[in-house]
Parts: sequence; C-alpha cells; structure tokens
Amino acid sequence: MRIPESTIQKIIDEADIVKVISEYIKLEKKSSSFIGLCPFHPDQNPSLHVSPTKKIYKCFSCGEGGNVVRFVEKYEKVPFPRAVQIVGEKCGINVDLGTNDNFHISSKYYKILEDSTNFYHFLLENTVAGEEAKKYLYKRKLNDEIIKRFKIGVSQPDPDLLFKSLLKNDHQPLDMIEAGVVRGTDPYTDVFRNRIMFPLDDITGKIVGFSGRIYKDSNKDEPKYLNSAENKIFKKGNLLYNFANAEYYIRQNDSVFVFEGFMDVIAAYKCDIHNTVYVETSF
Ligand code: ZN
Repeated sequence: MRIPESTIQKIIDEADIVKVISEYIKLEKKSSSFIGLCPFHPDQNPSLHVSPTKKIYKCFSCGEGGNVVRFVEKYEKVPFPRAVQIVGEKCGINVDLGTNDNFHISSKYYKILEDSTNFYHFLLENTVAGEEAKKYLYKRKLNDEIIKRFKIGVSQPDPDLLFKSLLKNDHQPLDMIEAGVVRGTDPYTDVFRNRIMFPLDDITGKIVGFSGRIYKDSNKDEPKYLNSAENKIFKKGNLLYNFANAEYYIRQNDSVFVFEGFMDVIAAYKCDIHNTVYVETSF
C-alpha cells in the first residue's frame, strides 16, 4: 500500500526531529541547532548537526543528511514505508501499511536473522563450545574486535537450540524455515550445527543469510562451508557483503576492492583496509 504524500509530509512537519534523533544518539545544543556524533561514519568529533527549525540533519564529515524519516530509515535499516510508520507512531499519526506488503513479510525474516546472529554471537562468547570456536578463530588471527565487528558466532551440537531460542522470541516455526535457519516439521531442527557462523549482509547492512564453517576435526568429512539456501530474502546474486560498513571508506578512497570471498574482506580488515566488499560470482 502506498502512503499518501500528504501523510508523509504531515509526519515530517509534526515530528520533533531533535527528540526523535535523541532517541538514537546523544545530542547537545549549540546555538540554534544541536550536534552529536554521526552514526553513519566513524566520528570522533560531533559532526552531525540537527536543525529544529529547518527540520533536517546533516553530517559535515560524511555528507549524510535529510529529514527525520530518512534518519530513521538509515539508522534502523528499515524500508522507507516502515520508517514513515515509526516516526508516525512517535507523533501520534497512525500509518496503516496493510499486512500483505512484501516488506512487511520480509521484515519478519530479517528480524529472525538478526535474532539468530545475536544468539550465535552470544553462544560464542558464553559457552564451552564457544571457547573452542574462539581458539580456532584466534589461531586464524581473528581478534575479539574483528569477531565483534563481523558479528561472528557459533552454532552448537544440540539439534534445536536456535529453534527454541527463536520460539521464546515469539517467532513462528514456518517463518524460521522461510528465513533459512530451521528445517523439518515437528521436530524442527537447526540448519546449522557445530559451525562458526558468519552472518552475510545485503547492501543496506541487513543480515540476509549465513555461511557456517566447520572448525572441529571430528566434522572434517562435512563440507567446509555451509551457506544459507536461497529464499525470499537471501539471493546470492544480490549479496553485497560489507558494503554498508565500507560505503564511507569507498567514498573517502574513491575506490573499492571487490573480493570473491567474505574471508578476504575480513583479512583485508585485519590489514586496515576497509573499502572492501564481497560479491558472489561463482554461478
Ligand atoms: Zn557522518
């Protein structure tokens, strides 16, 4: 369903841009505007300016700027209609997006993948299996900062640990299957087990799938890497791994390194090279 232009304009006019942006980052008043650390590039000194009278924000370092809806769209990495709805909620204007919109359905899957990523990362940091996986990662010269930055995690030997955790977060089994992390029909089982989990993101930085790598000798007969199967949101040809994080550096350097594997992006990061992406070219 299309949101009428007049509704979008009304929301932009009525929303308090300073109040909305303050919910995401810390702003300080400076003469007639407000400033804060820009969340869209690695900012040391506050470069993001917010003007309550003009109702816009602008970063004087990376150039990012626009109205309040754009800020929410960029920050929350949600589709534009959803950003309009979020800002609408904050100023008491209800936006009905219907229930059959593609993005509405997709957002369920994105949330499942985000929750899965957080869960795998949690397991890596807080379990015995995680300790073993970390030893493997350290041996490959990946440190804690890199593990955190690329949201690396681990899947456990248990058949349905992720499934149970997603159920607790109110996700439906069929949605988990559609999102590519669970399979079967009661009993449901996790797709990935005993693997180091690398989340794969799309051009907007949203996680759309995983690549799981074996790290134990006892599993060495299995394929080295297991990737998410293609589904509604995971299309290998649409992957642009690391782009959302690299965008600023690509613009700064006016160049980009395109790799054929995500491990190459991580290896480059270790060498302080950040203007890198990975695209799937093998089919
Ligand atoms: Zn910026």
